[in-house]
Amino acid sequence: MGSCLKGKSEATAKAGAYKCKHCKAISEKKGHLCEPKKIKKDEKKKS
Ligand SMILES: [Zn+2]
Repeated sequence: MGSCLKGKSEATAKAGAYKCKHCKAISEKKGHLCEPKKIKKDEKKKS
């Protein structure tokens, strides 16, 4: 508990990765985020 990347993404936003709803960090391991939300393949990328 209490482990999160705090906004420092360790992966790119892609399908199957997770994005923290709380601090917006992205990781492929949901255990690294405080509020992981799985990224769907249809989610738009920022350019
Ligand atoms: Zn977080």
